Amino acid sequence: MSLFLVKGAGVAGLAVAYELLRRGEDVDIVDFQDTVGQGASFFAGGMLAPYCEREAAEEVVLTLGLDAADWWDQAVPGAVIRSGTLVVAQPRDLADLTRFASRTTGHVWLDRQQIADLEPSLAGRFDKALFFEDEAHLDPRRALAGLAETIRNLDGKFDLGWGPPPKKNYSSVLDCTGPAAIPHIPGLRGVRGEMLYLETGEVTLSRPVRMLHPRHPIYVVPRDDHRFMVGATMIETEDDGPISARSLMELLNAAYALHPAFGEARVVETGVGLRPAFADNVPRVVETDDGLAIAGMYRHGFLLAPAMARKAAARLSNGIGLQKEVIA
Ligand SMILES: Cc1cc2nc3c(=O)[nH]c(=O)nc-3n(C[C@H](O)[C@H](O)[C@H](O)COP(=O)(O)OP(=O)(O)OC[C@H]3O[C@@H](n4cnc5c(N)ncnc54)[C@H](O)[C@@H]3O)c2cc1C
Repeated sequence: MSLFLVKGAGVAGLAVAYELLRRGEDVDIVDFQDTVGQGASFFAGGMLAPYCEREAAEEVVLTLGLDAADWWDQAVPGAVIRSGTLVVAQPRDLADLTRFASRTTGHVWLDRQQIADLEPSLAGRFDKALFFEDEAHLDPRRALAGLAETIRNLDGKFDLGWGPPPKKNYSSVLDCTGPAAIPHIPGLRGVRGEMLYLETGEVTLSRPVRMLHPRHPIYVVPRDDHRFMVGATMIETEDDGPISARSLMELLNAAYALHPAFGEARVVETGVGLRPAFADNVPRVVETDDGLAIAGMYRHGFLLAPAMARKAAARLSNGIGLQKEVIA
């Protein structure tokens, strides 16, 4: 049995801690935040949408993401909601829907009646939609709290709100610090994502709904308590300051176009996360001076953390990424 240090209790760090514990290893997890699931993970939509993401992502995002929902189900029983994804567009943007269909698989076309049957709140609002039945979603904040609980039950040790890492004989250090790794890992950049939470009892959705638009595509992910996560911008900058007025207006306009009742909703939260990404937007497990890093999760942290965690754990068991000398 070896002892590993995981730096960062976001989705990548918790996923790899779980994978190592499952393999019978010992794991310490440190984060300078007081609770798990901060960083970019806190602001995520939690969509496990490999088919939809393939529209703009490499094939590997689809293949590695296919079993993500099963992994989350096993790690955090009850966290995954398997109700698919609905993709819609305003009548004037129907060409975008057709283009989206041509770039993706795993969908069926729906007509007005079928849209109404699936999402009664959207009855009469859209002529056509794409339905990706095999996709899923989760609430990232709940799922990561649940994963931390699973980790504690497997005897993983947390040191949150911490100063320097504890001095122990670690076989390897796993850097899962998300955007904080940008200065240290060549090729890594940040992509700003702005989001907000709306609260209204006037709309009910059972699944994430993506609304295509040539300039401002958005998605709305239903949560409990009549809340809806509306996301997200994609801006090439490492500025993680508060949401801009322009982005707020664009997200709200798009939500209003999806359903006018969102116009009366309460804006209960806005947020900004930096998605760490490589040039091809595909994550990697990279060797570092004292171990491995899981880096560049981009907009696929929840979708691809299971696959990347397994990859990192497999490398360690093949002797890759272990400390040359175990330091005290
Ligand atoms: C608006 C938005 C929507 C998104 N929607 C989705 C989605 O629907 N589906 C999906 O799959 N992905 C989504 N993502 C992407 C996903 O959130 C990220 O890919 C993922 O959170 C990155 O995870 P991470 O663990 O690498 O980094 P983070 O989540 O940023 O976690 C890094 C952690 O490391 C800690 N840390 C930093 N420095 C140190 C240090 N020196 N020592 C110890 N700890 C440290 C931080 O406090 C933090 O807790 C979205 C992202 C955004 C911003």
